[in-house]
Amino acid sequence: MHVLITGGAGFIGSHLAAHHLAAGDQVYVVDNLSTGTLANLEAFRGHPAFRFTEADILHWSGLGQAVAWADRIYHMAAVVGVKKVLEDPVAVIATNMTGTERILRAIHSGGWNPEVIIASTSEVYGFNEKNAFAETDHIVLPSAGRLRWTYAVTKLADEFLAFSYARKYGLHVVVVRLFNTIGPNQVGHYGMVVPSFVRQAVRNEPLTVYGDGEQTRSFCDVRDTVVALDRLAGCPEAWGEVVNVGNDQEISIRGLAELIVQRARSNSSLEFISYADAYGEEFEDVTHRRPQLNKLKALTGFTPEWTLPDTLDDLIERARAKNLRVA
Ligand code: UDP
Repeated sequence: MHVLITGGAGFIGSHLAAHHLAAGDQVYVVDNLSTGTLANLEAFRGHPAFRFTEADILHWSGLGQAVAWADRIYHMAAVVGVKKVLEDPVAVIATNMTGTERILRAIHSGGWNPEVIIASTSEVYGFNEKNAFAETDHIVLPSAGRLRWTYAVTKLADEFLAFSYARKYGLHVVVVRLFNTIGPNQVGHYGMVVPSFVRQAVRNEPLTVYGDGEQTRSFCDVRDTVVALDRLAGCPEAWGEVVNVGNDQEISIRGLAELIVQRARSNSSLEFISYADAYGEEFEDVTHRRPQLNKLKALTGFTPEWTLPDTLDDLIERARAKNLRVA
């Protein structure tokens, strides 16, 4: 199979590339290296079935050809991370919306009908107070323009673009709402909590818990995520559908910090930082976020294999090795 991955030098994209190379597929990655890195591709850059182009999805002249070559496309190119979104909402809108429309139009013009995954996010559920989100739930967003929600709104627009192209032109598109993905190569610079806490713990520095730490998240190992995405793309019943992808094990951020300190046998303390200090006054955090996974299971039979402690042990070991190399 020919697999095209936009944003393929990013954290999830590079795991998708590794997954498909291991399965014997041809993999073509395009990435503008804004948040993705060549280091993420290091393990397989010389692989004969692997190809990489540095280009921005908004201007890439090779898009039409690449799309016509592909049997499977993962559209992962996006501006992500709360900090990045607050810094540059204009770039978020351009990349996340114009980029997605461009790729869908190119697929339609290509005349070939590849399987397509469009990456959306659990952020689209917004302030919904339910304790576990199902795909049919309402979306609750503040109506006054808070920039923090730019990411959610652009991804929601992407979802509707995808459904429109699926309905009008019969494209084989699956929209996936990803819930807090974690794993090797994820970095903390853009606000992601697990890599930040792990790094702090192995250095015996305080773990920076934002707010009171009672907010909860459900973390899914990326090595599970890529299996779910692979199965969904190849599942005709999923085409034209939106599906939650994640793990429903839930933990508070304070609980996560304590667990990481314990697993790392670290001397770190917890440092509580107000949201205003962490992100600026405008920030509104989501208090609970857990996926309902019935739809994913019904369509693909998928259940995650990695438990949170197993992933954390793996990440702690990797961070320790890196720390030793840097020191
Ligand atoms: N968070 C934290 N300390 C950090 C980074 C994040 O306490 O150093 C919190 C953040 O406020 C949120 C949770 O951890 O409540 C998850 O944050 P992340 O940015 O990883 O994902 P998202 O907010 O998109 O769920």
